[in-house]
Amino acid sequence: MAEEDSGASCHVYQVVVLKEGYSHCLENGDQVANGTISLVLGPHNIMVDTGNPWDGDDIIKGLSKHGLTPSNIDYVIATHGHVDHIGNLNLFKQATHIVGFDICNGDKYATHPFKDGSNYEIDEYVSVIPTPGHTHSDVSVIVKSTKLGTVVIAGDLFECMDDLKDPSIWQEVSENIELQEANRKKVLKIADVIIPGHGKMFQVTETKTQNT
Ligand SMILES: [Zn+2]
Repeated sequence: MAEEDSGASCHVYQVVVLKEGYSHCLENGDQVANGTISLVLGPHNIMVDTGNPWDGDDIIKGLSKHGLTPSNIDYVIATHGHVDHIGNLNLFKQATHIVGFDICNGDKYATHPFKDGSNYEIDEYVSVIPTPGHTHSDVSVIVKSTKLGTVVIAGDLFECMDDLKDPSIWQEVSENIELQEANRKKVLKIADVIIPGHGKMFQVTETKTQNT
């Protein structure tokens, strides 16, 4: 019992999916899609992706379940600039915003060399790493020390777990397939669990077994 308790307290961060993303095609060829909205709780409270512009009420409700309001969020990270990932940035006026390779607070922009492959460390457990390919300035968020191990919130670097078996799913919406492929491999090596942009979170070990 005591051992279990001390084990639980070792996890510095918790990752919560506030709203799971999805994507499917309609018969007329149009698409229905929304991006996953995640909340990282710990020494820094962090939102990763904010859904589409109609998701504001769901975000506020989701935060309140954890006793939070938007003003309690320290960082808002948008994995890339597509509308289904950036729809509610302006709920978070106290936060530092990282949108793709841009880092800003109010009208002040920090320079960080994401384009040279440099990671941005929020603290010793959370870092924002450049993972371009889907767009030329995608980032992913690595969260260590969760009860699930190392979680990578990857935006559309991974559309969904099925895109491991069917690469056309991510390649059709990729701006640079070669670069994205390399960054996917990099993240698969780091992650125990991946939260993709448009589907359920998945264990990396599961997918490795399926692919061999
Ligand atoms: Zn996208």
